[in-house]
Order: sequence, then C-alpha cells, then structure tokens
Amino acid sequence: MTRSFDPAAAHADILTRIAAAAKAGGRQAGDVTLVAVSKQQPWERVAAILETGQAVFGENRVQDAMAAWDNHREGVELRLIGPLQTNKVKEAVAFFDVIETLDREKLAAALADEMKKQGRAPRLYVQVNTGEEEQKAGVVPAEADAFIASCRDTHGLSIEGLMCIPPADEPPGPHFALLAKIAARNGISKLSMGMSDDFETAVRFGATSVRVGSALFGPRG
Ligand SMILES: *Cc1c(COP(=O)(O)O)cnc(C)c1O
Repeated sequence: MTRSFDPAAAHADILTRIAAAAKAGGRQAGDVTLVAVSKQQPWERVAAILETGQAVFGENRVQDAMAAWDNHREGVELRLIGPLQTNKVKEAVAFFDVIETLDREKLAAALADEMKKQGRAPRLYVQVNTGEEEQKAGVVPAEADAFIASCRDTHGLSIEGLMCIPPADEPPGPHFALLAKIAARNGISKLSMGMSDDFETAVRFGATSVRVGSALFGPRG
C-alpha cells in the first residue's frame, strides 16, 4: 500500500463528518450506519478498514462478495447493494445479512420462496429509481407504494427500508427528500442513501445508512 492514502484516517474522518451532519440535523451520530463499500478493492485495504472495528460492508455482486468474504464472514454484516438476478437468489439469501436491491415482483417471489426454504431472513430494502433513469435498477416512484404493498401482502416480506442512487448529474437533495417521503407514507423508517460525494447531504435528509466506497478505501481498481 502506498503512503498517500491512509484508510484508517479516512475512516475516522468519515465517521466525524457523519456525526457532524447528524448533529446538525438534531440527530445522534449513532442513528446513522456507515456501510463500507468494499467492491473491487484489494483485500489489504479492506483488512485495514476491518482493523478499525468497522463491521458493516457493502458489495454489489454476489459472486465477488462470496470470493472476498468467505473466510472473513464472522462478526461482519454484509449488505448486497447491487442488482440481484433471480438465479443468484439462493446464494444471496444464504450469504447476505441485508439485501438492498429488491425492485420487482419476480424477485420478491423468489426471495420469499428461498427464505422459506432456507429458514433465513435477510433484512430487505426496496430500491427506488428516484430519477426514473432508463439504465438504473429500482422501482419508479409512482409504483413504489403498490410494490411495497405487494411485497408485504402477496409475498409476506417485511420491508426494513428504502434505498436510492440519485442521477449522477443532478443535485441529490430532491432525490433524498423523495425517498424519505415515500418511506414515511409507507411506514418505513430506514433510508439507505448517500455515497462518497453526497453522504453528508443524505444524512441531513434523514439517511439511516450511507454507502461509502472510494472516499473510504481510495479509488477502485
Ligand atoms: C459503488 C457503490 C457505492 C459507493 O460509491 P462511492 O462513490 O465509491 O462511495 C454506493 N452505492 C452503490 C449502490 C454502489 O454501487
């Protein structure tokens, strides 16, 4: 590892900034969970962050996550934050503590079925495509209420939170506000929003978890 980037210092700095943003909004630092997004990072960097006591990590691909974490799984909470194909649902249910990318009926049905089979219940977030971007996963805002109701009533799934990734070229605030509004009217209290460039804004808009990758680990390989 080069001396130019110090993951432990970056970790301390990000926790300080999360705490400051939380306090500015009248909340406690402990109300916001830092999800360390370790995708595509060399293991030595991930190990350095693990050593700080960081215990919650995010990965965007099932197979990559299993390869990286299989021998380091104990005491770690792993969150899937990338799109989930139904043919990977079996592995995802077995491996992850949280799945943040539930966004369609077929996936809801497959998850419900697999969770019953395995007797395991990863916590679930519905991903909302707040910017209605063609290339992005997530249910569009106008269909979010009906989809959440269907997850609950048709598939018997408990929805812990909502997740969004705002468009890269727009101010994120209105997207965070929209996600918070959809959550509130559906009785959902957890919000996964905010990344390296905008996590403080997300905290001000009510994020209960922020997903930070490059600001914590350095640029991805
Ligand atoms: C990669 C990724 C992140 C982290 O992005 P950074 O800009 O590196 O912080 C957060 N959320 C999702 C869904 C991602 O895929």
